[in-house]
Amino acid sequence: MLAFDADLAEAWGKAGKAVILLRPETKPDDVHGMVAAKGILTARGGATSHAAVVARQFGIPAVCGADALQIDLVARIVSTDKHSLKEGDLVSIDGAKGEAMVGAIPMVAPKYEDQPDLVTLLGWADEISARKTRKDAKDRPTRGLQVWANADYPKDAVRARAFGAQGIGLCRTEHMFFEEVRLPIVQRMILATDEAERQAALDDLLPFQRSDFEGIFKAMTGLPVIIRLIDPPLHEFLPAQEDLIERVTELHTKRNYTVLNVSEQHELEYKEGLLVSVHKMHEQNPMMGLRGIRLGIMLPGLIDMQVRAIFEAACDAKQQGFEPMPEVMIPLTGHVNELKMVQPKLEEIAKQVMAAKGVQVKYKFGTMIEVPRAALTAKAIAGVATFFSFGTNDLTQMTYGYSRDDAEKDFLLKYVEDGILPSNPFQKLDQDGVGQLIEIAVTQGRLARPDLEVGICGEHGGEPSSVAFCYRAGLNYVSCSPFRVPVARLAAAHAALGLAVN
Ligand code: PEP
Ligand code: MG
Repeated sequence: MLAFDADLAEAWGKAGKAVILLRPETKPDDVHGMVAAKGILTARGGATSHAAVVARQFGIPAVCGADALQIDLVARIVSTDKHSLKEGDLVSIDGAKGEAMVGAIPMVAPKYEDQPDLVTLLGWADEISARKTRKDAKDRPTRGLQVWANADYPKDAVRARAFGAQGIGLCRTEHMFFEEVRLPIVQRMILATDEAERQAALDDLLPFQRSDFEGIFKAMTGLPVIIRLIDPPLHEFLPAQEDLIERVTELHTKRNYTVLNVSEQHELEYKEGLLVSVHKMHEQNPMMGLRGIRLGIMLPGLIDMQVRAIFEAACDAKQQGFEPMPEVMIPLTGHVNELKMVQPKLEEIAKQVMAAKGVQVKYKFGTMIEVPRAALTAKAIAGVATFFSFGTNDLTQMTYGYSRDDAEKDFLLKYVEDGILPSNPFQKLDQDGVGQLIEIAVTQGRLARPDLEVGICGEHGGEPSSVAFCYRAGLNYVSCSPFRVPVARLAAAHAALGLAVN
């Protein structure tokens, strides 16, 4: 049944109802409703929009960018030229085909674990793709292409391992910040007016991060886990500016003809203050603004806390007999000097934690390659980073200059229909353009550091033709949603056998 907002989707989901969350588009603070829903339907967005990425991550079917839908969030009605439905009405979606249907259709649940033939076949696939058939930049044989998974929570890591993932290629730490108890602490940290206040909030966040990381390390014992430090712009953790303006105006208007009660008066004061902060943080192009490593440089306490949490968790897991293999990933590097400023300090924290705990764990520090300049200057960057992971969602966005959040709602799909583009570059890697940057970065990076570990963690990591490209480009692994791991394992073997994949 249709729910028009995340809170209702969560409430109905918890009550055992099969909910399809319908939104114009989703935002990070909708995640609690998304995970409680059986499906997600959005009018805007595309293959790498927030709704698609989160849905893929959690294995929830999603249809994103159904622009025929006209959603009236006030009347709680959605209409097309043929239908008009209200909240609570039944719809079904097919995420593979991108279709939404009125009513409930018969469905079959796919299973992986109960299919021994499939498990055997994929075991053969892994053996084939692990063969040492490729050469690196110095003409030496390299390890075969592995399949890792993107997983943010311990339960996703368990699922990834069950699907045959040989590592975690991306743990997006910020997703953990949106949970109920944590979000107010994160907001306190962002809105802090002095360092002591900010540090107090960071100290409160640390145990949450530590316990999530410990769970992931335990689930993935003996296998590498790449944990990415904070990436999104901080305004994503605060209420939207428009919503604040609406509520503040409403309360002001009310105050003009009546006396506000005490809680309304407090709300007005709080939201007026919040509005000033949100306004100050507003950016015209947040995707190209204060995010990734830039945020780490401007707010060092935040990433220091994250690294401390990672190593405390790793040491604790090791003391309990597990074998954690943390790899700390710094996002959105564009210039080697950014890494030179950030990475040594973080490595120092890692060493301090291990010394204090009296435990040593194997670890790596590396970076995402998501900005074209980083790919072109990979040799210098590999002088500092010990691994690269291609964030091809952002790399595609920045190479083409197409917004990953907006392009699919208008011109991009027409470009594909009209044959201007052979396919949607946010789904299938653009091998000629983005691929060339990847090849340059792999070659240049391994010139500086022959044993540089290189992988991909954008949405392309689970798409067969992109997996084949990654094999040819000499990557060590592809990382994708746990649910796409079986397909990626097969695609990696096809690539190793030289079979054409489209
Ligand atoms: C990417 O850009 O490809 C990536 C994995 O990071 P995110 O999607 O979180 O920006
Ligand atoms: Mg990215």
